[in-house]
Amino acid sequence: MNDCSVASLLARGGFRCVCGKRHEANLKKAVVKSGAVAELGSVVRGYGGKRAYLLCDANTFAAAGVSVLRALGGAGVGYTIFRFPEDRTEPDEKVVGAAVLHFDRTCDIIVGVGSGVINDIGKILAGITGLPYIIVATAPSMDGFASSTSSVVRDGLKVSVDSKCPDAVIADTDILKEAPPLMLQAGLGDMLAKCVSVCEWRIGRLVTGEYYCPAVAAIIRSALHKCVKNAEGLMRREPAAVEAVMEGLILSGIAADYAGVSRPVSGVEHYFSHLWDMRALEFGTPWSLHGVQCGIGTVLALKGYERLSELTPDREKALAAFENMDKAAWYGQIRRYLGNAADTILQTAEGAARYDPAQHKKRLENIVTHWEDILQIIREELPASDAAAALLRSVGAPVSSAEIGIPTDENALTFKMTKDIRDKYILSTLLFDMGVLDEEANQIYQ
Ligand SMILES: [Zn+2]
Ligand SMILES: [Zn+2]
Repeated sequence: MNDCSVASLLARGGFRCVCGKRHEANLKKAVVKSGAVAELGSVVRGYGGKRAYLLCDANTFAAAGVSVLRALGGAGVGYTIFRFPEDRTEPDEKVVGAAVLHFDRTCDIIVGVGSGVINDIGKILAGITGLPYIIVATAPSMDGFASSTSSVVRDGLKVSVDSKCPDAVIADTDILKEAPPLMLQAGLGDMLAKCVSVCEWRIGRLVTGEYYCPAVAAIIRSALHKCVKNAEGLMRREPAAVEAVMEGLILSGIAADYAGVSRPVSGVEHYFSHLWDMRALEFGTPWSLHGVQCGIGTVLALKGYERLSELTPDREKALAAFENMDKAAWYGQIRRYLGNAADTILQTAEGAARYDPAQHKKRLENIVTHWEDILQIIREELPASDAAAALLRSVGAPVSSAEIGIPTDENALTFKMTKDIRDKYILSTLLFDMGVLDEEANQIYQ
């Protein structure tokens, strides 16, 4: 696949891949260019829309409202606006409920104007009503534009719920380049994270035998490369740099659909971010935008991989550590660190592959057998932590947890907890399998 642009992949439609899978994206249309919003009216008409239910907040309306209304008016499309109270946190029952209760039943299409939060709500509403849904992006800040799930707070816990992928994404670089600096930095951080996710996907395939697709990995690699190559122009708001990040963020959703799992787009660095979000919700600890946190998580992950590259697996030590682990004490630590949010993690921990002795043994054998291959994958996929930090710093993004108010001395424990977020094979699981997670976490993140 030489041309990995959003347009060329969507034009290609579904296809049978060398990996044996048929790949198909839920997203069917994307307009990524200068002036894209002018096409909104015809896109809405294309879905048979005559009256749009518009979701926005004060900031996103200020960013794109006038051009959106002009585009709809030009195509003879009516609208009902629901303006959310300005809010940067995750959508919860109250916010989603408000969007539902204000829904105008004469509307036949939903149009979100915004990025993370608005899009998450729009996707839920589209899922419930079954109506077509278009998102007009106002900031290239996170990779959920083309995904079929929404990140919400339900019963006080941050969860990902099934919703509906937008039918179309309108990404106007004239609007996107005016996004607040932190949102541009966040977009780059969420993209930089993909070097770790692709690396861990390949390692996961060797150790657990899980599904892996080289074509999907190549799409993500190429998108990441474009972002890094153009990063210098991002804070000067150069269209090529903004477009590279936005394309990469949309491609992330397409790649995850192709793979059928989030493997190509999220790894241990995303779990740092999830854990910080969970603690922020539970205890009011500091937090930042998803992509900003993922950028910091990427630097932390790269430090971990640098240390891993100096190690050699020791079979006896690994088996002894697995045998002697004090699971009850560890679960207690998770409970103290995450409060109520620990319940969902602990519910699945007992049956999880990472704690199954027979599966641990099997993984350990694969680690020992493939150790040189694992080191080679790390060399091929990962930049140096210093280089990643320098890139983030060059756009003014935070590069350490301390810069967003999270104490450095919490990083070792947060890292150890990343292995318990889901049954996904990541750096912390690998160190756990080698029997050195505790000592190495303290060493890496001292
Ligand atoms: Zn494939
Ligand atoms: Zn992300």
